[in-house]
Amino acid sequence: MVNLETMTKPITRGGKRVLDTKAWNEAIELMKVKSYLNFSPERPWWAKVADTLIAENMPKEQQGWVRDDASRCNIFLQNWTTKKKGNSNLPESLCKMLSVAKKYNISINPPVISQKIKREMPVWHHNGFKKDCIIQNNNQWAKCQQEIHNIQTVGEMEKYVQRVPWHSGNKRCPCDKCKAAKTKGCKHPGKCHKAAQKMLDSLEHKWDPRHDDTLRDQVKPAEDIENKVKIKSNFNTQDDLRNEFRVFVTPGKHSPNPAIVAPQAKEEQANETTVYLVTEAADE
Ligand SMILES: [Zn+2]
Ligand SMILES: [Zn+2]
Repeated sequence: MVNLETMTKPITRGGKRVLDTKAWNEAIELMKVKSYLNFSPERPWWAKVADTLIAENMPKEQQGWVRDDASRCNIFLQNWTTKKKGNSNLPESLCKMLSVAKKYNISINPPVISQKIKREMPVWHHNGFKKDCIIQNNNQWAKCQQEIHNIQTVGEMEKYVQRVPWHSGNKRCPCDKCKAAKTKGCKHPGKCHKAAQKMLDSLEHKWDPRHDDTLRDQVKPAEDIENKVKIKSNFNTQDDLRNEFRVFVTPGKHSPNPAIVAPQAKEEQANETTVYLVTEAADE
């Protein structure tokens, strides 16, 4: 008797090249997740429907701390989950997709994050808050920021915290931003602003747009004069969120800090006189 594992192996390894249907189906589900995580304007319509269904199936115990419906954006970007079993109304196709995503630990985990992506992330229930911080997603000021100042993303929050030098922070602050906030209905622009700043300060360095890590490790691209190409030596940071998800991420292995080029590696690069090309890829 030959078991399925042997049957699905290549012929050169004693198998019969029988299709491994389980792996095949899982690969299909992973491709579905890839489409779901396409946040570009070409995002498939079903992904938007899936967002709504996933948000509607938030476990009851989480609804106490994710109170604002508009803040439930995406479980891959935020720290809440959805029900796949019991009284879940999620269609089976979505349950399957999410189970495979969980099995293979699909996660947003780039070594260095572009400024654009940092700013596009939802600020409420963000996955990148420091673990030891108490995050106020539901207090008076969070509500004010959501409802009066219409803040949903990190970029909007970053813009909101920027104040002119003469901003005093007290109730009758004469600065233009505080005056405008008061007109809109903000009860105490100084306190609201301080709370917003605290929220941004709670983001891990890697996710905070006030630090631009994409510049830090950029060195002059190496050049291969003979073939007239430049080789990018910095991390391959992209502006497209859908390209920053990784599969097979080790759980708990997220670094709060951006990756850096080790000093000795930089030195070695500087002393290098010959460049051997082993790939055909070339970036301008
Ligand atoms: Zn002010
Ligand atoms: Zn306010």
